Amino acid sequence: MRKILHVVFVLVVLGSLAMGIACTGNQVGPEPMTAASAADEMMTTPATESTDMAEAMEPNPLLAEWAGPYGGVPAFDTMDLADLEPALDAAMAENLAEIDEIANNPAPPTFENTIVAMERAGSTLGRVFPYFAIWSSNLSSPEFREVQRKVTPKLAEFGTKITQNEKLFERVAAVYESPEVESLRPDEQRLVQLTYDGFARNGATLEGAAKERYAEISQRLAQLYNQFGNNVLADEEGYVLYLDESQLGGLPESFAKAAAAAAEERGQAGKYAVLNTRSSMDPFLTYSDERDLREKVWRTYYSRGDNGDEHDNNALITEILKLRDERVGLLGYDNFAQWRLEDRMAKTPERALELMEAVWKASLARVEEEVADMQAVADEEGAGITIEPWDYRYYAEKVRQAKYDLDSDEVKQYLQLDKLREAMFYVAGELFGFQFTPVPEGTVPVYHPDVKVYEVTDRDSGDLVGVWYLDPFARMGKRSGAWASTYRGHESFDGDVTVVVSNNSNFIKGAPGEPVLVSWDDAETLFHEFGHALHSLSSNVAYPTLNGGVRDYTEFQSQLLERWLRTEPVIESYLVHYETGEPIPAELVAKIEKAATFNEGFRTTEYLASALMDMEYHTVDPEGLDPDAFERETLARLHLPNEIVMRHRSPQFGHIFSGEGYAAGYYGYMWADVLTSDAAEAFTEAPGGFYDKEVAARLVKYLFAPRNAVDPAEAYRQFRGRDAKIDALMRDRGFPVPGDGD
Ligand SMILES: [Zn+2]
Repeated sequence: MRKILHVVFVLVVLGSLAMGIACTGNQVGPEPMTAASAADEMMTTPATESTDMAEAMEPNPLLAEWAGPYGGVPAFDTMDLADLEPALDAAMAENLAEIDEIANNPAPPTFENTIVAMERAGSTLGRVFPYFAIWSSNLSSPEFREVQRKVTPKLAEFGTKITQNEKLFERVAAVYESPEVESLRPDEQRLVQLTYDGFARNGATLEGAAKERYAEISQRLAQLYNQFGNNVLADEEGYVLYLDESQLGGLPESFAKAAAAAAEERGQAGKYAVLNTRSSMDPFLTYSDERDLREKVWRTYYSRGDNGDEHDNNALITEILKLRDERVGLLGYDNFAQWRLEDRMAKTPERALELMEAVWKASLARVEEEVADMQAVADEEGAGITIEPWDYRYYAEKVRQAKYDLDSDEVKQYLQLDKLREAMFYVAGELFGFQFTPVPEGTVPVYHPDVKVYEVTDRDSGDLVGVWYLDPFARMGKRSGAWASTYRGHESFDGDVTVVVSNNSNFIKGAPGEPVLVSWDDAETLFHEFGHALHSLSSNVAYPTLNGGVRDYTEFQSQLLERWLRTEPVIESYLVHYETGEPIPAELVAKIEKAATFNEGFRTTEYLASALMDMEYHTVDPEGLDPDAFERETLARLHLPNEIVMRHRSPQFGHIFSGEGYAAGYYGYMWADVLTSDAAEAFTEAPGGFYDKEVAARLVKYLFAPRNAVDPAEAYRQFRGRDAKIDALMRDRGFPVPGDGD
């Protein structure tokens, strides 16, 4: 259902302060599932129905049909925060009225008058949410956060009113059980199934006291999620380390420039600000020669949400886990993970764990080698230290330079943001047949002059495919990381709808006329997020609900797209030096490829530590659980090396505690990695390699366009002729393939 998709979509935004491993950010596209998943992302408190008369008379601009080209685009240039809350109130009321009409239809329930009618409902709310998303992610402010605090419970209340609408569920169940289903198209049958599951998996089958308790829990959880996320944000904003010039040893000039600008922005001109965010912490720990400062920055970053003050998240974690466990218990599940994975590609916690454990051992073995290499460098330098967690990135960089002779700054000179964008357009043209053309300035409204808009067409037929926004630069109020947002998803059941989608990142804007140079990782992330956008743009589903992703599958398409950064046509034409225009030398590419598995022990281990911990949290009995002790003991049992910490420590693990999308689902990145590696080998095995027309056509047909209209496991089999195997992933990471000799 449209409205629910969009509700979840916004809540994904709200809950995604933290970032994914490759996707520093996450997709904000329509989340999977149906009705009820909205409820589990949300809370319920009595809504204040306070649309006062005067306001009700004035038309609210945020409710208006989108005007302009491409079937209408959001009026991002004129939006006013004061309109947001009343717009949401009115749109929710309208949506509930539509739902009531469906629920109370005197005609016998049919696919058309129930399921399709639900897909149709909520179009106004669907138009308001993109504004909400922009304020939440791209233009946040204390004023917005205040509105958000007020509307979140109302949204939850709204979601619950739908998911707990008994008459509605009765009709859905009647359609689900009726012989009519047999006569429907396969995608329609799937729509019925997903709609029914959306209710059943989220409490619709409950009655009496259990039903009430379920609603209470959902309400409380949503509050806790919000609080958790806000606490992390408070600790990110609340700690800034100001340095003077003498403390910049080892740091690249680009970092110093950005730090100087950040300090100036905060009224500390002449100083250098190290922010308590990943994008500041990571380069600082990689380059700073000041070991005591590295330790300080490391401790501050990994203590977010864990400072024993009013922003401490530990007690929240315990309460969240208990409530989740109780809630799925009402539905008859043993634990939250079992409930969560049932409709994911992995299906069971055991299968997810099996994958993680298979990789974990190889990963720990690699860490041991990496630490030994780093210790050797430190000893050679006469540093007289033992490698600690705040030394890992620093000495890894030295090992990288010594062993792989790869200077990140040299690589950067071939990675210009504008050229990378052109490279992505080239790839989209070759694989998807898409053409990107900038729209004339002023034809599509934007919320900031840095945002650029492109029209996407089919390059053969010239047909309109969608509209793509790019918001590339960091600024105050924009959340960190990179992400993609779908403002309007594809659907065709009521006529073709044009996709409206965006990519967002946080590059530091250069001086006018100067190219923006980015790191290799950032270039990969750019391609990654573009993969999400292409996934939205290529959708051919008929119904909005079928755009929903399956969480351990939606990262696959984006991760796969990263592979094209290293393909020959991209290297030749787009990875060119910003001064000489020369393509990146073959030796440098070879070094990058060789270095690709460098530090893989660190990367895989810090990620898996978080993913395993996530699964542990959601399979144990949470009664009396102390997160601090639980984290320590679990990591000790897993033999996590002392030199590494979880990528997201529990009190800052927003993926799993500031929402539910990734709860018991953080493993999904690796699940998607298995598919990515395996699918990439389908290309390398083909005659045309990464630009093989036949494999590309199958890729689009089976793995991109159907979104969730086909069971992803089945879709993958159609693409590959078999299930995905772990072997390609192990090869990609430079780990031994199980069963290949010893
Ligand atoms: Zn992603």
